[in-house]
Amino acid sequence: MINLIKKVWKKTSFLRVLTYTFLFISCSTTEVLKKQEIEKEFIPYVLSFEKYSGKQVEAIRIRFANLDYMPKVTGICYRTKFKLGISTIKIDSYYWEKATDNEKEMLIWHELGHCVLNKDHNNSIGNRGCPISIMYFSGFPEFCYVNYKRHYIKELFQY
Ligand SMILES: [Zn+2]
Repeated sequence: MINLIKKVWKKTSFLRVLTYTFLFISCSTTEVLKKQEIEKEFIPYVLSFEKYSGKQVEAIRIRFANLDYMPKVTGICYRTKFKLGISTIKIDSYYWEKATDNEKEMLIWHELGHCVLNKDHNNSIGNRGCPISIMYFSGFPEFCYVNYKRHYIKELFQY
């Protein structure tokens, strides 16, 4: 019986090596996925998000995509359901090209609000017809952001 086990062990050694190699590769892939993969155009807005939220943005991918902005999708967050997974944000490249600094910040913060802070939309309207939250379901006039930025920061990061 012992001999049989030895024989089988020997015969499967090649297979075992393969399995270990595979496990090793899988582990290193997970390590890679844990890190950020953020295109450099987005980094300043991720850094300002980290500064105001006091949170490290981890396990996130932010990429350009063609989201067919002309109807109106400017960005999208795919939240991962798995602990070791990585959430992905896609930003419409056509919109980004034409957006102002404020609009870029609003968009990245909004998507990070979904992906990192797990926030859903808040569609309430406050003063001068401006949304009360950056988590408003769509983009909104830049004058709102400029006038009420302090309020938006507080609303996004403290509640
Ligand atoms: Zn949204």
